[in-house]
Amino acid sequence: MSLAVDLSGIVYRWRKALPVVLDIPEISVTVGEKLFVRGPSGSGKTTLLNLLGGVAIPEQGELKILGERLDLMPARSRDSFRADHIGFIFQQFNLIPYLSVIDNVLLPCRFSLRRLSKAKSRGREPEAEARRLLRRMGLPVENLTGPLVTDLSVGQQQMVAAARALIGGPDLIIADEPTSSLDENARYAFLNLLFLEAEEAGQTLIFVSHDGRLAEAFDRIVDLPDINRAGRGKSPKC
Ligand code: ADP
Ligand code: MG
Repeated sequence: MSLAVDLSGIVYRWRKALPVVLDIPEISVTVGEKLFVRGPSGSGKTTLLNLLGGVAIPEQGELKILGERLDLMPARSRDSFRADHIGFIFQQFNLIPYLSVIDNVLLPCRFSLRRLSKAKSRGREPEAEARRLLRRMGLPVENLTGPLVTDLSVGQQQMVAAARALIGGPDLIIADEPTSSLDENARYAFLNLLFLEAEEAGQTLIFVSHDGRLAEAFDRIVDLPDINRAGRGKSPKC
């Protein structure tokens, strides 16, 4: 059983002067698993995802993602590792406002040859794969080169952000409250599509939300406050 995520003894704070936000003895996630991480606002969910994506590095502990020790990697290698292997759906989307819908979805293929060639192997051209994903996400796929991504509704922008995370089949999909702008129907439809894609491509999915109603569809639920010792008064150097 190989692990997509293997964290041990993680301690993290944003700055030395600030308190410890995460103090997590252990988290492991199996390849192909769909994990729901639950916790109230401010409990450290986004911070944890930053660690899983190698955007942030812990001050203590081992951070092993897809078999690689990200905490030991130079920043540039971490950046290319992330571009190749991780699809991030950000809480604030992080779409590029001056690019078209298609160009936003294709962005990971510009930063990663691995994802470019995987996108080509599924569709005939990377654009065809971008359109397939957008269609699957329920977006109309005609005329996606003309409008800027900011011409879409907020819910549609969320779908674009998801298609961008999925293109080129990254091994790990990390989703930070990706359903917060969707109504209830759209929320379940979105989740189904994400699961379908992830299952077909054998991807591991780590999905964070404060909204526990979605949790039952996942393989496993982790309550962040249960595994995070920070703020309980027994954290090191707190
Ligand atoms: P959640 O995603 O569960 O709402 P966060 O991970 O965003 O929680 O925040 C956890 C804690 O880290 C909070 O106390 C928050 O104030 C702090 N924090 C988050 N981002 C930053 C940052 N960029 N700089 C300093 N502190 C931060
Ligand atoms: Mg958050």
